[in-house]
Amino acid sequence: MNDHIDQPSLATLACRAGSFRTAEMEHSEALFLTSSFCFESAAQAAARFAGEEPGNVYSRFTNPTVRAFEERLAALEGGERAIATASGMSAILSLVMAVLGAGDHVVASRSIFGTSVSLFSNVLPRFGVQASLVDLTDLDAWRAAITPATRMLFLETPSNPLTEVADLEALAALAHEHGAWLVVDNCFCTPALQRPLALGADLVIHSATKFLDGQGRCLGGAIVGPAEIVDKKVFPFLRTAGPSMSPFNAWVFLKGLETLPIRMERHCRNALAIASWLEQRPEVRRVFYPGLASHPQHALAARQQAGFGGIVSFELVDRAAAWHVVDHLRYFSITANLGDAKSIVTHPATTTHGRLSQAERDAMGVSEGLLRLSIGLEDADDLVADLARALHGIA
Ligand SMILES: *Cc1c(COP(=O)(O)O)cnc(C)c1O
Repeated sequence: MNDHIDQPSLATLACRAGSFRTAEMEHSEALFLTSSFCFESAAQAAARFAGEEPGNVYSRFTNPTVRAFEERLAALEGGERAIATASGMSAILSLVMAVLGAGDHVVASRSIFGTSVSLFSNVLPRFGVQASLVDLTDLDAWRAAITPATRMLFLETPSNPLTEVADLEALAALAHEHGAWLVVDNCFCTPALQRPLALGADLVIHSATKFLDGQGRCLGGAIVGPAEIVDKKVFPFLRTAGPSMSPFNAWVFLKGLETLPIRMERHCRNALAIASWLEQRPEVRRVFYPGLASHPQHALAARQQAGFGGIVSFELVDRAAAWHVVDHLRYFSITANLGDAKSIVTHPATTTHGRLSQAERDAMGVSEGLLRLSIGLEDADDLVADLARALHGIA
C-alpha cells in the first residue's frame, strides 16, 4: 500500500500531479489569465529581472497555470521537466532551434506529420540543419542514414495514417551508440498508452491539440525530458522567441489530462471494435490497426503500448468508394483534426497527404482508397451502424 502512496499510478497523477491552490482555497485549479506579474518594490523588480529571486515576471516566461500543466504532463510521461508551447509545431521548432545548429543532421521517419516533414525538408535546411527521411520500421535504414553530424533521431509511433509501429528500445540504443538523441512525438498514444522515456527515448514531443485536450478546443504543444535540456536549453529559447502557451489553453489541457487515462481506454475499446468489424467486410481491402492480430507489428505494439490507440485506417477499392463513405457518414465529422471525443474521417490522399506527389504517396502506402478514422467516445455500436450504412452501395 505504501508503495502506491509513494508511486501513484497514472490515473492518480492525471488528477493530482501539478495541482496547486491559492489563498482562496479553490478546488479546481485557478486560471491565471494575466500577461504580467507585479513586484512589491523597485528592488524586487530588479532582482526578478536579474534572475536573483525566483518568481513570475511575464507570461512569455512563466505562468502558474501553464506551470501546473507542465508539471502534470511531466509526471505522466515520467520526465524530469516539461515545457509548454503554443502548438505542437512550435514544440518541434523550439526543440530543434534550441539544441541544433548549422552543420547538424537529423534522421527522421518519413511517416511523420506532414508539416513536420515540411519543417525538416524546407525550413531547417535554410539554417544549415539537414535531415534524411527513412522508413519508420526499417532499423537498417535508420542505421545507414546516420552520419557523424547526426544529433537526433525523430519519429512518431504508431505512424499516421498507416499505424506502423517502431521499436523504441532498439532505436534508442541505436541513437545512443552514435551519441544522438531519440525524440518521439507521442501524440497518437499519449502517456496513457506509451511512455517513450521509460523505453530509452531522450525527449518527448506533444501536440496537446489532439488527445490531451480531447475535445478539439485549443492548440498547444509540449517538450518533455531532462531538466538539463528542457530548462537549460529550450526554456531560454522559448522566452526569447516567444511561442509560449496561452494560460487559458493550459487550463483547458490541465483539466483535459484529468480524464486522459479513462478517455484513452474508451478510444482504444471503440477503435478495436470498429477495426475488427471492418476487417470482416467484403468492401474493405485492408485494415490498419495495431490491435489486430493481422497487423505486422502487433506483438511489438502489445509489448510497447498499454493500448492500441484511437486511430484506425482502412482501404477501399478507389477514391470514388472512399469519398462515397466520407459523404455518407453521420457520426464522423469531415475535419482536419484527430483525438477528439467526436469521431472524425479523413481522406489522406486528397487532404493531409495531398501536397505530396503520387510517387511519394505510393512509396508511403497512402492509396486513393485509404480512409483514416479517429475513433471518438460515441457508442461503438452506433459508429459501426453508421459505417455499415455508408459502406452500403459501394462495390
Ligand atoms: C497535429 C500534429 C502535430 C502538430 O501539432 P499542432 O498542435 O497542430 O501544431 C504534430 N505531430 C503530430 C503527430 C500531430 O498529429
